[in-house]
Amino acid sequence: MAKIVDRAIWNIGPLFIVIAVILVDLCALAYYLVVFPYTYNWSDASILRRIYIIATLAFTFYMVYCIHFHYYMAIRTPPGGTADSGRTSRPDQTSEEQEASLRQVLLEMEEYDEYPRTCKKCHQPKPERAHHCSVCNSCVLRFDHHCPWIHNCVGHFNHRYFVLFMTYMVVSAAYFAVFSWRPFIISIDFVNTEWPYYFPRPLLAFALILAICMGLALGALCAWHYYLILTAQTTVEFYNNYYEKGLAKSEGEIFVNMYNFGAKENLKRFFNIGDRYRWYTVFYPIPIPPRGAGRVFEKCEEFYQLSHSRQRNQIRANQEVQDLDDMKDI
Ligand SMILES: [Zn+2]
Ligand SMILES: [Zn+2]
Repeated sequence: MAKIVDRAIWNIGPLFIVIAVILVDLCALAYYLVVFPYTYNWSDASILRRIYIIATLAFTFYMVYCIHFHYYMAIRTPPGGTADSGRTSRPDQTSEEQEASLRQVLLEMEEYDEYPRTCKKCHQPKPERAHHCSVCNSCVLRFDHHCPWIHNCVGHFNHRYFVLFMTYMVVSAAYFAVFSWRPFIISIDFVNTEWPYYFPRPLLAFALILAICMGLALGALCAWHYYLILTAQTTVEFYNNYYEKGLAKSEGEIFVNMYNFGAKENLKRFFNIGDRYRWYTVFYPIPIPPRGAGRVFEKCEEFYQLSHSRQRNQIRANQEVQDLDDMKDI
């Protein structure tokens, strides 16, 4: 049964993408054909007002482009297969980056000595934080969840694009809802008002309701993902950590999330800010890879301060959750 559902989710993926693009572009079209001409009157505007109108137009084009760019990248970027080689070194690497990759390789060797495991379903080596996606039928690095709206898994290499896509969507939906409110009132008053726009009245009403619904739904999902980013967890890890936290509490111990370096540092690590990219690069609609190859992850100081047996217990608990994925519908 689970397999049938997985197959259905996989097959319906492309249709979901087409629907998402149509709905987003419908709202964009409603904005440029109705809301923008309604809000801004070019012919009576002063020079200053005209500059403001042009700036507004540029801002909205930027938002629409960012939505499409990050959506495209979330769909097209492989989330990270465990069979890919993560040890590529580029000729343009700086000495710090080379040092970082060397540190990465050493970490990998150390980790592999301790946890040489393979996935029972796809028989590939299974690094820490990787999980098997039953829809894609492959293991994914730092797996978060499978998203039918991008017909892809959300994993190490595309999580950043996915979160930025949601962020731009939520901000744009709020902006659209605020400015399309008055045209919406006019659009539903069929008796007393004229409609001089090249866009059907009912469609504008539909676009506003859609923007509100999409904004609220994505807003909740987006807030959830920012919470996960700030606490250095994936969706899968959250449930496991929640359980482990309860267990530690009942034993009078303090639970330590080994990947948690504090909210600010977690955010920087997620958006890959610091080493090569400055903070404002999150506003650039350009491809930016995540930090690291996604096979091994640095652990925080608090984790190393735990007793050796507790460190091992925690790692074993994480592995058990990974193995649970493999046991499903075998
Ligand atoms: Zn697998
Ligand atoms: Zn998947």
